Order: sequence, then structure tokens, then C-alpha cells
Amino acid sequence: MMIRGSTPPGHAAVRPQWSCSCGQRCWPCPTARTILLLTTDRLSLARSATTWVYDAARELPDVTPAELFDRFVGWTR
Ligand SMILES: [Zn+2]
Repeated sequence: MMIRGSTPPGHAAVRPQWSCSCGQRCWPCPTARTILLLTTDRLSLARSATTWVYDAARELPDVTPAELFDRFVGWTR
């Protein structure tokens, strides 16, 4: 069973580079986003997205805040 807000099986974030374990360069990949949207309630997803942004901001210092927002938060609304 999947824990709410956790990463989809086969599509885990590979840190600290934040690639997807399926081989896509950027996590969450389109498939991971789709699975998360279908399996996670809005509030849990929003909470998770906030955590991802903070963690990724530390681990990906070259990625701009706008890019971080689009990548981890923008698609969850
Ligand atoms: Zn993936």
C-alpha cells in the first residue's frame, strides 16, 4: 500500500540530484506527477510539495526559486 504523499513505486526521487528512479532527468517526472495526482489528496500533496521545495532548494542551489516552484508545486494545484 502506498503511503499518502509518498513517491510512486518506480518513480522515487534520487537525491541530491533529484532525478527520477525511472531514468527521467527531473523528478517528479510526468508519470510520477500523474500518479501522485491520482493517488494523493490535495492537502497531503500540498504538504509534500512544500517539503520538496525546501529540501530541493538546499540540494539544488543552481535551480532558481521560480523553477523550483514550477517543478514541485505548480502542477499540484
Ligand atoms: Zn519517473
